[in-house]
Amino acid sequence: MAGEPQDDCLFCKIVAGRIPATIVRETETTVAFRDINPQAPTHVLVVPKAHYQNAAALAAAPDLAADLLRETQAVADEEKLESYRTVFNTGSGAGQTVWHVHAHVLGGRGLEWPPG
Ligand code: C5P
Repeated sequence: MAGEPQDDCLFCKIVAGRIPATIVRETETTVAFRDINPQAPTHVLVVPKAHYQNAAALAAAPDLAADLLRETQAVADEEKLESYRTVFNTGSGAGQTVWHVHAHVLGGRGLEWPPG
């Protein structure tokens, strides 16, 4: 069922504390942690605690989607980022490798456009 934890999901395991992560923020509905393979001085992933496989699936839970977006700004504020990029990779062709929706928050260096 949408939102239910998945046994085989890496980010569900991080949310449950079963896999270590460097957590920078936590709310009732979201967790933010540092990416293990950072692509910028700040590279934080913000995930809902509930399991949704991508951003489109999360649209079924608009309050939770709003929580997630608020948290991307909260991370940027804590990291003192004036400019930053928020990325949702959707599908393997776009680089999605973990099937639990996550916002990448990238900042602390110049970011080119268009992305690769
Ligand atoms: O958008 P994508 O699905 O590729 O992003 C997954 C991200 O999760 C990667 O940037 C990867 O470095 C990160 N990751 C992590 N901790 C893990 C496994 C993956 O931060 N234990």
